[in-house]
Amino acid sequence: MIIFRTGSASHVGRVRSVNQDFHYESMELCIVADGMGGAAAGDVASRLAVETLAATFAQRSATAGAMHAGIDAANAVVYEASLNTLEYAGMGTTITAFAPVGDPDLGDHVVIANVGDSRCYLYTNGELRLITNDHSVAAEMVRNGELTPAQAAVHPQRHMLTRALGVEAEVAVDIFELPLAAGDRLLLCSDGLSNEVESVAIASVLGDLTDPVAAAGALIELALLAGGHDNVTALVIDVLVGDATASTRNLDAIAPLAGALSTPPAANDLTGSVPAITELAPLTDATTTVAAASVIVSAPSSTRSIPDGAPAIKHPRLITVRTVLFVAAAFAIIYTGFRFVEWFASSQYYVTTSGSAIVIYQGQPGGTLWVQPKLVRTSATTTAEILPSRLADLAVGVPEPSIAAATTYISNLVLEYSAAKNPGTVVTTTTAPVWTPQPTTTSATSTSQATTSTTSTTSTTSPSTTTLSTTTTAPTTTTAAG
Ligand code: MG
Repeated sequence: MIIFRTGSASHVGRVRSVNQDFHYESMELCIVADGMGGAAAGDVASRLAVETLAATFAQRSATAGAMHAGIDAANAVVYEASLNTLEYAGMGTTITAFAPVGDPDLGDHVVIANVGDSRCYLYTNGELRLITNDHSVAAEMVRNGELTPAQAAVHPQRHMLTRALGVEAEVAVDIFELPLAAGDRLLLCSDGLSNEVESVAIASVLGDLTDPVAAAGALIELALLAGGHDNVTALVIDVLVGDATASTRNLDAIAPLAGALSTPPAANDLTGSVPAITELAPLTDATTTVAAASVIVSAPSSTRSIPDGAPAIKHPRLITVRTVLFVAAAFAIIYTGFRFVEWFASSQYYVTTSGSAIVIYQGQPGGTLWVQPKLVRTSATTTAEILPSRLADLAVGVPEPSIAAATTYISNLVLEYSAAKNPGTVVTTTTAPVWTPQPTTTSATSTSQATTSTTSTTSTTSPSTTTLSTTTTAPTTTTAAG
């Protein structure tokens, strides 16, 4: 049993006017195709190929043979269309497909098929591995030992495909079998991503964003930030239940098997018997097929040139500095956002009760996101010294713009209470309440003012009903409590 979830994104890019990439995702099959052949034909080729593969695969039992038959059928459909319609002449497409399959001998596993330079990556244990082989002139020369990767990166034919679907009557298909474990991530993508974004940046996104839709979207954003010179498509597949355990498999064994060629099933033979995997290409060592990924059907070692009518796909190389700048800018924005929230959360104060005490907090009642309010003052005034009608407001928290304003508010509560207790008399009180400084408080302003002050006080803060003048009456507030 193999269970997975997917997320995908595709974008026309910043240069081209038509998105010739086409992708498909279901619980049975995932496909990315990158069409070529001019503005009027590339999108037709990729769509025809994807639709034909999906329809063909759905009519068969899910096996590697069905995958091979579906790609052959897709090749035939695109090729026929290119012959029969003048404006489609020379069109073709890459294709990279993923499907969980079953087999009487091998059991449940996963197959990856590809033609062209759309890719499949495996991200596991923090490492990104390229599963597929690019079918391009430069990539073939590297595999043949004729070029180093560094030389291939600047080779004039580095974007010239050696294989594409729909440009000839038959096509060679690479099919890989992968042992997958829960937690593995696969990425199917067009070269609009792999040519624009460095593998380290791709790995970073796949490692950081757990939601496959978000990961696919972030990869597209990176490609656009790097220039978006091509259509770009990313399809992320998260393996929830796999057929292998990460500790027992040998991913280093993922490599094409030279000479493991076989005659592919007839492209349109949808009613015949489905060839078993072992009939397609006997594995050289059956005991390693589960533990190690293997190519079941390999490609001819000789390369084929794409007809002149099929344009080569050209891209600029990766721009590392842009990727670095993007990451730096993202961190700067996030940091600024954090600081703004902290500033906003601490820019307010509120008065509330704590048991019988009246206290002042810095922050918002209930907190703001991750910033919790901080106790900054405990008044010597208690709830027994204010009107009971004020307790409801205090229970919720009475906001004030500063500590001074909060202090005045509490003072006025005391004045209000005194006035209510002594109707018709003039009341003297302190100009400010007495505080118990908190250990976390560094400011000492307005604290511990003498209770014997006779300076007149006028309320400017709610409660606003109390306007009192100075007399010689004894103050009602207590002495300093520390
Ligand atoms: Mg492309």
